[in-house]
Amino acid sequence: MTAHYDVLIVGGGHGGAQTALALRQQKFAGSIAIVGEEPELPYDRPPLSKEYLAGDRPWERMIFRTAAAWAERDVALLLGRRVMQVDAAAHRVTTDHGAMLSYGRLVWATGGSPRRLTCSGHDLVGVHTVRSRADTDRMRDELADVREAVVIGGGYIGLEAAAALAKFGKQVTVVEALDRVLARVAGAPLSRFFEAEHRAHGVEMRLGAQVICITEGDGRATGVELADGSILPAQMVIVGIGIVPAVQPLLDAGAEGGNGVRVDGQCRTSLPDIFALGDCAEHRNGFAEGDWIRLESVQNAHDQAAIVARAIMGNDDLYAAVPWFWSNQYDLRLQTVGLSRGHDAVVVRGDPATRAFSLVYLRGGRVIALDCVNMVRDYAQGRALVTNGVRVDAALLADPAISLKALAAG
Ligand code: FAD
Repeated sequence: MTAHYDVLIVGGGHGGAQTALALRQQKFAGSIAIVGEEPELPYDRPPLSKEYLAGDRPWERMIFRTAAAWAERDVALLLGRRVMQVDAAAHRVTTDHGAMLSYGRLVWATGGSPRRLTCSGHDLVGVHTVRSRADTDRMRDELADVREAVVIGGGYIGLEAAAALAKFGKQVTVVEALDRVLARVAGAPLSRFFEAEHRAHGVEMRLGAQVICITEGDGRATGVELADGSILPAQMVIVGIGIVPAVQPLLDAGAEGGNGVRVDGQCRTSLPDIFALGDCAEHRNGFAEGDWIRLESVQNAHDQAAIVARAIMGNDDLYAAVPWFWSNQYDLRLQTVGLSRGHDAVVVRGDPATRAFSLVYLRGGRVIALDCVNMVRDYAQGRALVTNGVRVDAALLADPAISLKALAAG
């Protein structure tokens, strides 16, 4: 027999869980199920490369709700099952257990799979990615035997993992193909600041470095060979080089997309009664000059989930949230608001040497984004500058004695 749900959510991560919760908050009375590939109750993903990896947060504090709380909200959790196929015309999906589930509305919230290396040794024991609880648990299980670790990829996740391992006293090297870390998401002053911080904690930085292969001994990773001929010894290799959106079943069913699945302002895909959201949803974003982009952040997953829930409830709100993000490394809290891509000027506000400063990004004289390091006040007060695309003189922005609140007020 085919079970039927009025709303069937595929993916029990941030976006999927939040859709179910938002629907119940909005008094949706129909049946809801979440089909999730991971066996765990829906949980908080960012700490996997931060507090959970560092052993500072126990698992019980990672889950969003207990099993009883989900049952109380009448949300069925079908965990440990992967949706393999979507039949959009029949309003039905098939799972890897061979079960068929039919739906009134389908919400696709599957995130992405970590991009893997393709060089030899990429699949050796000791080579890790960080996306799920299982990934981080595997790393933690091996840590006792690790003296040296190499992190491939100087993005946020790689740098966070490097900070956590350095805290355990491991000798860590970060290998980045470009000439600075965080090159895709932040301006050079922020990259240089984080590189210096990591070096100060004993982490070696290999920038502009190409990985040739992972070296092997007894079936395990023993190191990373670089194009300049050097071999970095490592008992653990962490690969943080981005994700591939998990959308193949939807694309196979005929959904428009490529880099994820394309959605409109209400997160509707091109297929009837199918929504998509979160990391896997490519949407036109007003903070990216209307370009098609995917955002990989908790904010985006949550805000798009709210839009989907409202659309299902018959509302016609459009997604227009200002993007924001955070990263914790050592005792540094980075908070970003807006998208800095396409900036033509960057203003440093405060002195990075004090470890509390902000970068303000401008395009055509308008503020488009802020990166704030240990600067909660700038982050809170600068949001309005970004949201409204305020035009501000760079010299005023550079003066930390002038509050961003005052500048936002004009
Ligand atoms: P996910 O939370 O990834 O959930 C997708 C779920 O769908 C997964 O459980 C997956 O297994 C499941 N799934 C996939 N395919 C199928 C299928 N076919 N059938 C059934 N289930 C399926 N964001 C921030 O804003 N700040 C941070 O500091 C930050 N740090 C991060 C650190 C790490 C280590 C990681 C991995 C991510 C971090 N992020 C951070 C990003 C943030 O976690 C994601 O943007 C967010 O989880 C996206 O939510 P989602 O619902 O789109 O996807």
